[in-house]
Amino acid sequence: MLEEKVNRAFGDEAPKHFGTGWWSGVLSAFFGVLSLGAVLCLHYPQLLTAPEIRPHYPMRVMRILIQGLIVGAIVFGVLSSFLRKKKVLGLTGMLLAFAAILLGGASVPINQTLHDGPAIGLDWFLLDLLMMALIYVPVERVWPQYPDQGTFRPEWTLDVAYFLSTHLPVQILSLMILLPATAASRHLANPALQHFVGGLPWPVQFAFAVLIADLAEYAAHRLVHTVPFLWRFHAVHHSAKSLDWIAGSRAHFVDDVIIRGTVLLPIVLLGFSQSVVAGYLVFVTLHATWTHCNFGPTSKWLESFLVLPRHHHWHHAIEKEAIDKNYAIHFPWIDRIFGTYYSPPDGRWPQSYGLAGEELSTSFIGQTIRPFVGK
Ligand SMILES: [Zn+2]
Ligand SMILES: [Zn+2]
Repeated sequence: MLEEKVNRAFGDEAPKHFGTGWWSGVLSAFFGVLSLGAVLCLHYPQLLTAPEIRPHYPMRVMRILIQGLIVGAIVFGVLSSFLRKKKVLGLTGMLLAFAAILLGGASVPINQTLHDGPAIGLDWFLLDLLMMALIYVPVERVWPQYPDQGTFRPEWTLDVAYFLSTHLPVQILSLMILLPATAASRHLANPALQHFVGGLPWPVQFAFAVLIADLAEYAAHRLVHTVPFLWRFHAVHHSAKSLDWIAGSRAHFVDDVIIRGTVLLPIVLLGFSQSVVAGYLVFVTLHATWTHCNFGPTSKWLESFLVLPRHHHWHHAIEKEAIDKNYAIHFPWIDRIFGTYYSPPDGRWPQSYGLAGEELSTSFIGQTIRPFVGK
C-alpha cells in the first residue's frame, strides 16, 4: 500500500506531539510540495493551469505566496532537522524547496500568450489543498470529536488521491457537471423568470440559491441511496471509516457528476446572478467539507437550522437506525419534512463509520472500476 510506504519512509513511530519536530517536518514537506508544484505551473502555465482560473490570479500576490512557501519549507525543514531524530520529513521539504529555487523560484516569467485548450488543474489542486488544510487541520486539532484520530489516519493517502482526482481534470469534470444544466437551458429557460430572480437583492438570491440547491441535493442524494446501480458509485463515499475534512472528498466521479449536476440544474435554470452562483459554490465547498470534519462542538439550537458535523456524521454511521437518514447537506429540517431525520436525543455521536455489511477495495483504481463491473 502506498500509505504504508509513505508512513514507513517518514519514520512514523517517533512521538508526534508539539516540540518533537513532527509538525515542522510535515509543514516543511507540505510547503515543499506546494512550492515545487507552483513553480512548475509558472513554467508550463498552458498545460498545468486551468483556463477558467488562470485569468483571475493576482500574480504579484501569487509570487509572494510562492516565495513564502519556499522560505517556509526551508525554515521548517531546518527546525525539524534540529528537533527530530528522523530527518526525512524536513530533508524532503528542503530538497523540494531547493528544487523549486533551482527551477527559477517565484520569479519565473510567463512569456507566452495563454489560450483556451486542454489543461491539467495542478494550480487548482495546490491552491485548494493549501486553503482547505489551512482552515480545517487547525480546527480538527484544536476541537476534535475524536482526539485519538490523527491528521494522518489510516487511508489518508486514498483520500488525497480522490482530492487529486477531482482537481487535476477540473476542466472535463466541470463540463460534465454542467452538462445537464446547459442541455436543459436550451429548452427550459424562462427569460422572464431569470430576469426576476437575477434582479432580486443579493442576500435574497443567495438564501434562495442555497435552499434550492439543498432540495436538489436531497433528491439526488436520496436517489443514489435508493437505486442499487447508483448506490454502487455512492458507496465509495460511504466507505470512509474515519471522517475528517479530506474524507469528504472521497467520491466516485460518477457520483460527483450525478449529485453536483442535479444541484446545478435548477441554479442555472433559475438565472441567479454570476456572483451569487460563485458565492454558493464557495459556501457549499466550505460547508460540505466542514460537515465531514472531526470537529466536536455542537449547538443544540443551531443544529436544528443548519447541518453541523454531527448531523452528517450520522449519515455515515454504521448503526442500523441511522442508515439512509440525514441526506440534506445544508438544512436538517429538509430531512424532517421528508421523514429521514435522525438525531439521538441524548446528543451522542456514532460508534463507527463505513459500510454495513459491504467491503470495498481500499485502492483508488479498485474503487473506481468496481461500480461499473459490479461485485
Ligand atoms: Zn450518502
Ligand atoms: Zn458525506
